[in-house]
Amino acid sequence: MARKQAATKQRQKAPPPGSRSPQDMLADLKGRLREIADLRAANAVLSWDQSTYMPEGGAAARGRQMAVLSRFAHERSVAPDIGRLLDALIPYGETLPQTSDDACLLRVARRDFEKAIKVPGDYVARANVHWSASYQEWTRARPANDFPSMVPYLEKTLDLSREYSEFFAPYAHIADPHIDDADEGMTTASVGNLFGELRRGLVPLVDVICDRPEADDSCLHQEFAKAGQLEFARHAAERMGYDFRRGRLDLTHHPFCTKFSAGDVRITTRVNERDLGDALFSTLHEAGHAMYEQGIDPALAGTPLGHGVSAGVHESQSRLWENIVARSRGFWDYFYPPLQRSFAAQLGGVPLDVFHRAINKVARSLIRTDADEVTYNLHIMLRFDLELRLLEGKLAVKDLAEAWRAAMQADLRIAPADDRDGCLQDVHWYSGTIGGAFHSYTIGNILAAQFYAAALKVHPEIPEQIRRGEFATLHGWLHDNIYWHGARFPPAELVRRATGSALSMQPYLGYLLDKYGALYRLPAG
Ligand code: ZN
Repeated sequence: MARKQAATKQRQKAPPPGSRSPQDMLADLKGRLREIADLRAANAVLSWDQSTYMPEGGAAARGRQMAVLSRFAHERSVAPDIGRLLDALIPYGETLPQTSDDACLLRVARRDFEKAIKVPGDYVARANVHWSASYQEWTRARPANDFPSMVPYLEKTLDLSREYSEFFAPYAHIADPHIDDADEGMTTASVGNLFGELRRGLVPLVDVICDRPEADDSCLHQEFAKAGQLEFARHAAERMGYDFRRGRLDLTHHPFCTKFSAGDVRITTRVNERDLGDALFSTLHEAGHAMYEQGIDPALAGTPLGHGVSAGVHESQSRLWENIVARSRGFWDYFYPPLQRSFAAQLGGVPLDVFHRAINKVARSLIRTDADEVTYNLHIMLRFDLELRLLEGKLAVKDLAEAWRAAMQADLRIAPADDRDGCLQDVHWYSGTIGGAFHSYTIGNILAAQFYAAALKVHPEIPEQIRRGEFATLHGWLHDNIYWHGARFPPAELVRRATGSALSMQPYLGYLLDKYGALYRLPAG
């Protein structure tokens, strides 16, 4: 997920656009926006290097260099000239067809600008200093299981998160500005409704699955050499459609995807020699994000339309490939024989059925990032509820650890023995705002199923192709209906255009019930 960007406000004197032609002003605006995009891309290179190859000794200077580039990008993004150009282009924009690239560009550039100028520079500076101190302390406190030392940091984070919302007042709910930053058009109420519906479907499903005999995943936890794991993950990502001529795969601690330009979209992964799933599924997840960025219409490059449209839609693209495709039985009909050849000693005697059940094992667990497809969303909903209660002032930070344990017990029927595996486990609240930090993961799961169902409606042959290791039809449908549009349409409109309906829970619940009903041999209905 992209970290929320706040911006500095700045007053400059510049000549008014005057009597220039709309085309001239639009070219001027695009040039300025491209410069901002280039500064951010340069920063992304520094950040990628920091997370992959940079020696430890580079940390201090790198932090400073990245801060300078961020500041330049922010200053340019709130420059009054951009506001003047946007104002002067209003009459021209009204003459354009609503879905033309220029009309979409003007809409998105105006939205970005209006948001950025609402946040004072002083706030941005204070918040960034605080988040970096909080993150620093968290890297010590989590392994030390020391939540009390994080309480004052988190209290300040909560204050800053509330203060941020006030810049966007009036709002219906204090979390709304945070949610809208991640997923334009969504609100606390709309996410809450979706999550209520999901919870009603999920809780009984988790209960009934957990009453069945536990799947045996010991075949995944043998010794698997790093080189073989990486080679296999790379091969599968390429086969799905990740273009290595415009990307690369490197090692890191926390896998991510980053984009420097349309021709350079990189992914990272990590390898655990005692867990075959780790490198493979994180690589395919990041490849899903990367294929989205690689597939955007080149005409949008360097503009505010030249990237994925929202956190939820982005996450849908990673999860579609990681879960719906790469954890499906058909995928492994094709890929299991070569995987067995790569790891003959470990998997030669493990039947495909056993392997397939192992990679889809459902279990109540403590750690979100290790959770299976079914219980994962319960982890998200728990965090979403706690965020709301904190922002609403109904839960004090000092009571968070206890509230976490109670919620885990209620939703997942297990509770962490310590805070390290409880409210200290995720970096999000310790390095950014409380609010809008988690919901997009579940929105992504829901949308992944809806997009996949829409693709199947047009191309019912897709599952059979996956069984043969052919992904071009699915990749092509995603390319044409999602990737290509970048941020042209607001997320809700993109979903409607691609699937013919608004965001809907049914495809996702149906997918989970079908898949896990079969895997766990649940009675129908
Ligand atoms: Zn992701």
